[in-house]
Amino acid sequence: MSKLDTLTQRYRSIVGDDPEGIWFAPGRVNLIGEHTDYNDGFVLPFALERRAIMAAGLRDDDLLVLVSLELDEVRIPLADLAPGVGGWAAYLAGVVWALREAGHDVRGCTLVMTSDVPLGAGLSSSAAIECAAVAALCDLHGIEATPMERAKLARVAENAYVGAPTGLLDQAASTLCRADAGLFLDCRTLETEMVPLPMAEQGFEMLVLDTKTPHSHVDGEYGTRRASCEEAARILGVPALRDVTDLDAALARLDDEEMRRRVRHVVTENARVLEALEIARAGRLADLAPLLDASHASMRDDYEITVPTVDLAVEEARRAGAIGARMTGGGFGGCIIALCPAGEADRIGRAVAEAFAAAGYDAPEWFTALPAAGAGRLA
Ligand code: ADP
Ligand code: MG
Repeated sequence: MSKLDTLTQRYRSIVGDDPEGIWFAPGRVNLIGEHTDYNDGFVLPFALERRAIMAAGLRDDDLLVLVSLELDEVRIPLADLAPGVGGWAAYLAGVVWALREAGHDVRGCTLVMTSDVPLGAGLSSSAAIECAAVAALCDLHGIEATPMERAKLARVAENAYVGAPTGLLDQAASTLCRADAGLFLDCRTLETEMVPLPMAEQGFEMLVLDTKTPHSHVDGEYGTRRASCEEAARILGVPALRDVTDLDAALARLDDEEMRRRVRHVVTENARVLEALEIARAGRLADLAPLLDASHASMRDDYEITVPTVDLAVEEARRAGAIGARMTGGGFGGCIIALCPAGEADRIGRAVAEAFAAAGYDAPEWFTALPAAGAGRLA
């Protein structure tokens, strides 16, 4: 049975009728621009073919019936919606709550979903389910909201209801992206630009490889990086490190060697995103490769957010034939991306897996990706 049939059947078993529609929203990878978001900088993600799909319909009662085929079924009366309740269903309940907080009269509904975005791998499985829910609920209730407004609603769910203090990158990517394109996002102004990333057409594909390294101390490390950036901006007298225009002059004014390295990462990474934007606008995707390599070196040496498994994955992917590779996501584990000649990504993934086995690391998981479409309606 196809996934869509399984989904529809589960919906029917609960409601006794067909869903009013099927919606979807994808996971994402960040092509470039790491730890730039909280420095008011730039990011450039693209959406994955891996996505959450959701069968949905309104109910006659004031109940939310939320089902994940991967997990379980949760029922929440609308009157009981309150931020701070944990569990996976909070991501969907949070969307209903966010819409109601924004003044929309959202009613009881049944949302049955499944997703092939791996959970907690840094590929935004959370934004995928939130953005699918926003798409479904807006359509079901006739709510008119621009893609950016929808992304912001999904972010409210994650920030205010689930309680995860994330930026807009994930939800913006999951909602706004288009096939064969990347999303340039200015995290200060929230201006966006879709830029062409015709990888298949230019003979490329992306390897996305999850190192499966358990994240440890991530929150603490994230906090100290962020604090260091804020402190540096204060010393330099700029609102955020995004505003540093002369890197050498800025570095000369900082005494602390570690802080200098942190600043160098953020400033050069922002510059690399802008360079990637120009490359994509000009349609020369092969030129992205050295930027990916440079971004990785910067995260490894200056921002110090990589770990041995991640570094090995990047090195081995390059050795096996990727033309550029970097860690993607917040760091201390998670995924790498590697720009590969078309048809080569799977072989390169296997080469990394062999290197992991030889090093005694847990087996990684990988798949091949091309930039895919953002949230929408399937049926
Ligand atoms: P990421 O977004 O990087 O995958 P997060 O920790 O932000 O990691 O989000 C993962 C959480 O999102 C899961 O722990 C779960 O609560 C929820 N989630 C994601 N996908 C699903 C799914 N298919 N079914 C139920 N919950 C899901
Ligand atoms: Mg997430």
